[in-house]
Amino acid sequence: MMPITRRSFLAASAAAAASPAFAAPAPATETEVAIIGAGAAGIAAATRIAAAGRRFEVIEAAARLGGRCITDTKIFGVPFDLGAHWAYGPDNPVTKATSWTELNVYPAPTGQRVRIGQRNARENELEDFLDALVRSNRGIAEAAQGKTDVNCARALPRNLGDWQPVAEFVLGAYPFGKDLNELSAVDVTKSAPRDSAVFCRQGYGALLARLAAGMPAQFSSPVTRIVTPAAARVDVHTAKGVVTARYAIVTASTGVLAAGKIKFEPELPKRQLDAIAALKLGSLDHIALELAGNPLNLQPDELVFEKSDGKRTAALLANVSGTPLAVVDVGGSFGRELSAKGERAMIDFATEWLANLYGADIRKAVKRSHATRWNAEPWALGAIAAAAPGNQSARGILTEPVRDRIYFAGEAVHETLWGTVGGAWDSGIRAAEAILRKMGVALGPAPARRPR
Ligand SMILES: Cc1cc2nc3c(=O)[nH]c(=O)nc-3n(C[C@H](O)[C@H](O)[C@H](O)COP(=O)(O)OP(=O)(O)OC[C@H]3O[C@@H](n4cnc5c(N)ncnc54)[C@H](O)[C@@H]3O)c2cc1C
Repeated sequence: MMPITRRSFLAASAAAAASPAFAAPAPATETEVAIIGAGAAGIAAATRIAAAGRRFEVIEAAARLGGRCITDTKIFGVPFDLGAHWAYGPDNPVTKATSWTELNVYPAPTGQRVRIGQRNARENELEDFLDALVRSNRGIAEAAQGKTDVNCARALPRNLGDWQPVAEFVLGAYPFGKDLNELSAVDVTKSAPRDSAVFCRQGYGALLARLAAGMPAQFSSPVTRIVTPAAARVDVHTAKGVVTARYAIVTASTGVLAAGKIKFEPELPKRQLDAIAALKLGSLDHIALELAGNPLNLQPDELVFEKSDGKRTAALLANVSGTPLAVVDVGGSFGRELSAKGERAMIDFATEWLANLYGADIRKAVKRSHATRWNAEPWALGAIAAAAPGNQSARGILTEPVRDRIYFAGEAVHETLWGTVGGAWDSGIRAAEAILRKMGVALGPAPARRPR
């Protein structure tokens, strides 16, 4: 086993720990809880177990922590969230973290613009747009009450007229990375409202990294096999060696699990395999363009949709946190096809899309650019786990411990906050607490650092 960066991420009281305590390096081949993955779920699980004073080992495939919530500052010299950016809900970690970090947070604007060709939608047109969204949401919610789950496209009212394509994008591909016909009405209806959010000026990924400060982890150590022998233990295999634990928490995405990158011995029960297959990841990517001189003439963090005539559309978050970054989001089947064509094609699309909406001069204003390609990220293989129609129960199934030793956590298992950092975080806390209970640990209050 490689020497590891094990210093003690501690916190006998994580709630109070503004600066974590550190202990001497410790051996890594045997522990109480092996945590696979250092994204939001893995970090939360480690926080909870550390707070209970029990031993754990975080094993991470990538050379960095954060998973799908990571902020880059090198590409543009300003924070750019490669994955999650919106911290949803009034109880979110960004707000809470301000009390003990230097990070700067502020409410995300609640409104949005709609572009119709090269002009903004007028007041009455915006009302039509919002009305189309409300009626669509109502249709989906009503369908979710039915005896059998249906796909969200079937639940749309028939009279959306030419607002239908943008409504489909705003309710499906943009938030969940899948077209409405691939989304379960029950799953979408159960998902918590995402209408109040905050932004972190330094990036959501920077915030998560701050929450993980001091957390020991074995980086660049992809787990290849998880063996549960008859004895009461789990052997977690990486190319660098084996970590033997009493329990394992697996937070790898359902994309990674479905691809068979981690072999389970014995094989997972069919119930869990089916659940993983039913929670396929949708496609969502950010295409960031650095625009000189605010050529779009928009305020910081303005969100813009287009009254499109089909799936070939996007969302724009302009002047992110007051920087020159215009972030164009693509998702669903169109986003998947585009990302498969590579970064150049994505940047070209975003540039042309903006030029069509704001004029040809935009092309000249583009300086540096970058596109994420989450479907090709080897340790994610997609963006967000949205349940296939009829399969909302897959989330609950995946939380059932396997052979009393293996616990799954991560955004995919959260019933209402799936597809969010907060959901991933909560799921990590829950898995850790389930294990601590098994270990006979009397649980005190959960750490206060609980993102949503
Ligand atoms: C483009 C995009 C935009 C998004 N926008 C938002 C948003 O605005 N707000 C929001 O709340 N959420 C958003 N999300 C979703 C959010 O990022 C995820 O829900 C959340 O980060 C998932 O956390 P997790 O811990 O479940 O999984 P991950 O972050 O995927 O963490 C799993 C970890 O496991 C590691 N791993 C995988 N395989 C192995 C292995 N074999 N061995 C060891 N380690 C392994 C991975 O490297 C990773 O670090 C977005 C996602 C994307 C992609």
